[in-house]
Amino acid sequence: MKKFSFCLVFTILFVFLQSANSQTINNKNKALSERIANYDISVKLDSEAKTVSGELTLNWKNTSPDTLNELHFHLYLNAFKNTQSTFMQESGGGALRGVGMDKNDVLSWGYCQVSSITNTKKEELINSFSYIQPDNKNTHDQTVAKLMLNQPLNPCETIELKIKFETKLPKIFARSGFADNYFLVGQWFPKIGVYEHSGIRGAKNGQWNCHQYHASSEFYADFGVYKVDINVPSEFIVGATGILLNEKTGSEGTKTLSYLAEDVLDFAWTCSPKFKVIESEWNDVKISVMMQPDHLKQADRYIESLKIALEYFTEHVGPYPYKHVTVVDPPLKGMGSAGMEYPMFITAGTLWKLPDGLRFPENVTIHEFGHNYFMAILATNEFEEAWMDEGMNTYFETRIMDESYGVHSAWIDFDFYKQGDLESKITGYNYSEKNKIAPSNQFSWLYTSGGYGMMSYNKPAVFLSTLDKMLGRETMDNIWKTYYKRWKFKHPSTKDFCDIVKEVGAIKYEKLYQSNIKDFLYQSIYTTRVCDYKLNSISNTKIEPDYGLYKKDGKNLNIRKEDAPQPKFKYLSKVNLLRLGEFTVPVEIKVTFANGEEKTTVWDGKERAHIIKFNTDSKIISAQIDPDYKNILDINLSNNSYTLKPKKSGLWKLTVKFLFAIQNVFQFFSAFI
Ligand SMILES: [Zn+2]
Repeated sequence: MKKFSFCLVFTILFVFLQSANSQTINNKNKALSERIANYDISVKLDSEAKTVSGELTLNWKNTSPDTLNELHFHLYLNAFKNTQSTFMQESGGGALRGVGMDKNDVLSWGYCQVSSITNTKKEELINSFSYIQPDNKNTHDQTVAKLMLNQPLNPCETIELKIKFETKLPKIFARSGFADNYFLVGQWFPKIGVYEHSGIRGAKNGQWNCHQYHASSEFYADFGVYKVDINVPSEFIVGATGILLNEKTGSEGTKTLSYLAEDVLDFAWTCSPKFKVIESEWNDVKISVMMQPDHLKQADRYIESLKIALEYFTEHVGPYPYKHVTVVDPPLKGMGSAGMEYPMFITAGTLWKLPDGLRFPENVTIHEFGHNYFMAILATNEFEEAWMDEGMNTYFETRIMDESYGVHSAWIDFDFYKQGDLESKITGYNYSEKNKIAPSNQFSWLYTSGGYGMMSYNKPAVFLSTLDKMLGRETMDNIWKTYYKRWKFKHPSTKDFCDIVKEVGAIKYEKLYQSNIKDFLYQSIYTTRVCDYKLNSISNTKIEPDYGLYKKDGKNLNIRKEDAPQPKFKYLSKVNLLRLGEFTVPVEIKVTFANGEEKTTVWDGKERAHIIKFNTDSKIISAQIDPDYKNILDINLSNNSYTLKPKKSGLWKLTVKFLFAIQNVFQFFSAFI
């Protein structure tokens, strides 16, 4: 009762504060989010020292019912301060995304150093600021710090802090840093964590959700308004999250660019004297592409694929709520920053003279833009539930690639070679025995024996595609639209998504498959089960007439076989199915008879062995599990069919040497997305 009354009061207060806040921060645009963490940042780039230094004013609202005595902050770039940080330890000494750290170069290292924190009374709080390690006992890790407040922060109060900091950017190898005079500035400022009060995402008590920087995890933050002034040498071309408000000439050959980004949870920027900016627009969304001069001919590849993604997500999920997207094309030396997502700002990547038939630039653009929905708007916790971002996004990436560039040519499209039958983008995301390592809902850094990519990207993309095919596109899109509409800007959890799947899809799933959709979701997300069904055998046994003991008028008669009454059917035919995996899902079986007749039945897939019997006049000649290829979860498709007269099948021939080589190229690039 107490909690309820608080919530009611809080909700009224929230609505009131929300409108007050939106009026003070921005009179024009209605707030789309709670705007908890708001930053006013003013920084200067030293392009020689590779530092970004300055000051930020943080306005942070305590929207919880708790009185807080401490605030937690991320200092992500301290991951690159020493070899003992958790990131460096977990990454085997600093290799990530296919690019390693050059430890011998002193400029390779990075940090984020806070020198002063003052409140509105101008009281210095820096002595109450100390490094903590919420995830492990690694005291060398300085990627999270705690600020003890000198007076408690009450519910619904806002605190304002001025924080002076200097960030040294590392030589690019893990998303952020510099390569010569190219800068990709991400995870770069002291950033407050998320305070989750009871009831939020299942939290029992109020707690800071502010994890250390791990090698295999991304980020989580609250929404807010960012006003950022960036001072750079005059010759630099700048791109950033948000809208450019103005550009002013500064002192000593510099200029200052001012950006505004509303309802975003992060701010990233880039600069280089070499960028060539190509602009375009889609509806009322401005598109800026920051191109390397030697890639200029490929600008249209980024722009066209971005427009495809904007249109597709708007139609199938919901509207893109921002007015700008910036796409960064990194130089070869800066490929450690390729394929990354920030709100309104993504990094793609290509190679000089990459043939049009290899669709890496399109693929990475569509993938990274998709993150703007799952990472930046729905804003799930990437530390704890990476599958909700990477997995859902990979599922959409496959949909868009297949539907826009062709199921048989989504990845590879040359006149002399295309991918061939059933080689859609989704079949490239294989799902294998490695799934037994861990379930998909595990915290990212706990995949200690590998499997983060498989469980966060591949398996969710595969089970969502399976669900899509089982439910049908219309129902699946209703799930996405409902999910987006209800949870945008609100940090949904796995349970929140599953509730929507059940709400929208359960009745249809049960009607089609006489099975509970909860079982499918539970096994897909929370277990390590793998799915493998086998069509073990087919048999046709002739039904002989019972001539030996034929009875007439109660008396046994010995009659000749040819005179005996013929049985009603000629054959008793059987299809023998096996469940080799632990994952159970309803499967369809198509049976083909010698006379050309076909019958399809549904098996609930639960028994270990199952026999389907037919009394028939025509022999079964073949049978196939899942004839419409709905169940992509099945790890071995080669055992899904059985034919009495074996014939060569063109399906699933993946081992063509050329394709193998091309797939290796894609695997290399996949490390960046
Ligand atoms: Zn991704």
